[in-house]
Amino acid sequence: MSKKRREIPVFEHPIIETHCHLDYLKDRPLSETLEQTRQVNIEKVITIAVSPGNLAAVRELSQVEPWVFGTQGIHPHEAETYTDAVEEEIRAHASDEKIVAVGEIGLDYFYDNADRDVQREVFRRQLQIASDLDRPVVIHSREADDDTIEILKEFEASLKRRGVIHSFTSGPGLAQYAIAQGWCLGFNGITTFNKAENVRDIVRMTPMEQILLETDSPFLTPVPYRGRENAPFYIPFVAEKIAEVKALPLDQVLETAYRNSLRTFFPVQLPASQPGINDRR
Ligand SMILES: [Zn+2]
Repeated sequence: MSKKRREIPVFEHPIIETHCHLDYLKDRPLSETLEQTRQVNIEKVITIAVSPGNLAAVRELSQVEPWVFGTQGIHPHEAETYTDAVEEEIRAHASDEKIVAVGEIGLDYFYDNADRDVQREVFRRQLQIASDLDRPVVIHSREADDDTIEILKEFEASLKRRGVIHSFTSGPGLAQYAIAQGWCLGFNGITTFNKAENVRDIVRMTPMEQILLETDSPFLTPVPYRGRENAPFYIPFVAEKIAEVKALPLDQVLETAYRNSLRTFFPVQLPASQPGINDRR
């Protein structure tokens, strides 16, 4: 007998799941995942590219439903696989109709799966693509706060759309820089973990207008489903936790995060009368 866990709450306000890896989910067929995702009122899902091997897979996934979208980019773990040909592929597809951002890109000095010089170069080259094509970016930064700030500073003027520092686990210095520069910070199931008080502190200091909700599934399953494979349909638990930590009404969290997601990735859907902080042109 499996332990009885609280059912996933379903909220009236729709949610945009801004970061998951649909091609890594193994526990159930994709169609079932997507059906369950719809059942908890998730309106859009963004599935994130990480490696040369899944750029095309993400483009294909972005075609399975009108409400599934993708990104194109190479994760810092995979930085040593970055070639001119890969760059051309990202450039060629970063503005496709269902592709909403360049990502995920960045620096990871925790795992150090790729040489740090290579990570920095590949991060810069992809920020250049986003600058050239005027696309937002999805950033991964782990144990690399200072270099992330230094590199983002080089692109302050050219990277007009900004984007998100996803799965934010960095320190207050990077948070302050990112907030001041109009970036969003993405939060996921980590916010529900007992030991993650440092992340909850960052949630408290981040204006609600700069918070995005995500799962990063199949990783980082929120309480009370830890131990299971994560999936987009667990995102309501993240929304609840953000509301609790920020002491805001849940509706306000859902509404604001939704608008933040539109502003970042789907700006044509926002009425022109409501400028966002990312509107820097
Ligand atoms: Zn990710």
